[in-house]
Amino acid sequence: MVAIQNFPNDVSIGVVGCAGRMGRALVAQILRTPGCTLGGGSERIGHEMIGLDIALLAHEAPIGLPILDDPEELFAKVDAVIDFTSPRATAEHAALAGRYRKTHVIGTTGLGAHEERAILEASEKTAVIHSANMSVGVNLLLALTRHLSEVLDSGFDIEILEMHHRNKIDAPSGTALALGRAAAEGRGLDFEQVKKAARNGITGPRNSSDIGFAVLRGGNVVCEHTVIFAAENERIEISHKAGDRAIFAEGAVKAAVWGRGRSPGLYNMQDVLGIKQLN
Ligand code: NAD
Repeated sequence: MVAIQNFPNDVSIGVVGCAGRMGRALVAQILRTPGCTLGGGSERIGHEMIGLDIALLAHEAPIGLPILDDPEELFAKVDAVIDFTSPRATAEHAALAGRYRKTHVIGTTGLGAHEERAILEASEKTAVIHSANMSVGVNLLLALTRHLSEVLDSGFDIEILEMHHRNKIDAPSGTALALGRAAAEGRGLDFEQVKKAARNGITGPRNSSDIGFAVLRGGNVVCEHTVIFAAENERIEISHKAGDRAIFAEGAVKAAVWGRGRSPGLYNMQDVLGIKQLN
């Protein structure tokens, strides 16, 4: 077993859902990021990895930190918690983040009104950073989408295409919806009024203000999004393709460090990356 190096100025980061696809990428990212210490991880009760050493998730030698099944223990001892789990678990974690006043970095997608409310409540007591996509590239795509929607006239129809791996459980992806929201904002429209999340059968022609979505699922595709602006005689397409989950893990760890000493509030990755002014 190797000793854990706890530098006093390091940000101690915990990972809830640490044995998931993103959880494992986060554990590996924290272990290789200078200025950060892996403070521990938790999993849902009954998970087969409970009690095993967390470093095994990143194929590293044990560091003496067994995976917990009690998130409260984790929130009590770290500076920040990164959460890519499920909507229900994220709402429970948000309550703990508020109670212990710890930075809560949330990547979970598919959140409903109840979970959004839990996050908002927590953000009155602590810094919460919530983004449907933590990558630098996608956050630039969001800013560009908003900008293009603003400058291109309504002769350009806006459609969004996304593809993910076969195990993704929500659709359209949280990122696709965020892109739709950015496009609606750019056009000064109410997203909920113009969103066409799916089309099937005899749909009739498209309304000019529609923002349409097409969803593909298959294989191990990490995350791909294209925003299409289609006019009569020309088409602009802007795309982002993620090759590895490490890009989201890198962004989430950046957010956890950025959250240190931050006033309570609800933030997103554009705040962390300082690209809000592009909008
Ligand atoms: P996954 O199913 O592989 O991992 C989720 C993990 O959370 C599992 O290990 C599960 O056991 C664990 N979990 C569930 N309930 C829990 C609880 N109560 N306590 C502790 N752990 C619990 O899924 P994934 O592919 O890692 O994605 C997780 C989430 O992150 C999804 O919502 C996905 O859409 C989202 N995601 C966001 C980004 C982003 O950049 N924001 C990027 C990738 C994935």
